[in-house]
Amino acid sequence: MVKIQREPLMEVLPRPQPKAELHLHLDCCVSYACVAALRPGTSLAEYLRDYVAPAKCANLVDFLTRPTRIVQLMQTPRALRLVTDDLFAQLVADNVAYAEIRFAPLLHTAGGMRPERVVEEVETAVAQASDATGVRASVILCTLRHFDADASMATARLAAARLDGGVVTGFDLAGDEAGFGLDAHVAAFRHAREHGVRITAHAGESRGADGVNDVLDRLGPERIGHGVRSIEDERTVERLIAGGVHLEVCPTSNVQTMGRLVPSYADHPVDRLRSAGISLSISTDARTVANVTLDREYERLRRAFGWTADDLARCNLAAVQASFTDATLRQELVRMFTSPACPPGPPAKIAAP
Ligand SMILES: [Zn+2]
Repeated sequence: MVKIQREPLMEVLPRPQPKAELHLHLDCCVSYACVAALRPGTSLAEYLRDYVAPAKCANLVDFLTRPTRIVQLMQTPRALRLVTDDLFAQLVADNVAYAEIRFAPLLHTAGGMRPERVVEEVETAVAQASDATGVRASVILCTLRHFDADASMATARLAAARLDGGVVTGFDLAGDEAGFGLDAHVAAFRHAREHGVRITAHAGESRGADGVNDVLDRLGPERIGHGVRSIEDERTVERLIAGGVHLEVCPTSNVQTMGRLVPSYADHPVDRLRSAGISLSISTDARTVANVTLDREYERLRRAFGWTADDLARCNLAAVQASFTDATLRQELVRMFTSPACPPGPPAKIAAP
């Protein structure tokens, strides 16, 4: 029996600047308390073994076994609401002002919910949590690499049908990049684009720059999830810059999944991608599976590459400018992020080291 550690002492520190992140999986951000509520009897040791990835995974597929277990717990409306509320509590603690949250609705039908109901439940949970916490958010629906063309198109249709609700804004391709190609997804992405859904897609993580070029050629994304292996090919870097394609970079998650290609944080190409002139921002990808926060990610960037507070502020602004939200909220966020004074509100409580 593992004894649950006490919460660390809390101390009140000056409120840090607000942050934004664009790449965040709902099924990768579930705290121990939330898993224990959904699966009573789960010990902390089981949680750390089955739901949190080690600092170095064998590969992306190994990493993805953790969210697969979390998805199994997210098959009822109650579970979707609990997981959403749990994520917003994490965003508040990390002083995130705006987040784009993504998930694959077709993975949540094992308990009898139809995909439309799944999306409605998450939309409602996100809207209510946003009202309750002040954290602004929108939702991106994911199709997955191993889905067939019908499943991919069904997800694209869902995204297009929910655009008027104002919560769902985007469509993404996630999953096993190295194991599956794009043939099953081209029509779905065309449908989404033609109906005004904003487009991002995972690429350049477990495949090289050719994977990024494939996605650019065939899916027409405005942003790329990760895209970090673009650095392997100068022409791909130039293409991203010329096309104004924004990279959603998640360094800690990449160190976990990219093996020898990124042996340590200091080897991550994020600094070289930024120096090359690519528009990019920093996200956590998987807050609990990767055991990371944006605060921690920023601290690692400071230590590894000497990034300053101004550099990080520019990343946040780039995130807002590349976000899929409407122009009104985008302008509000730009004002918040460029204000010399911290926004009004109580000092944030931060765990003492
Ligand atoms: Zn991702």
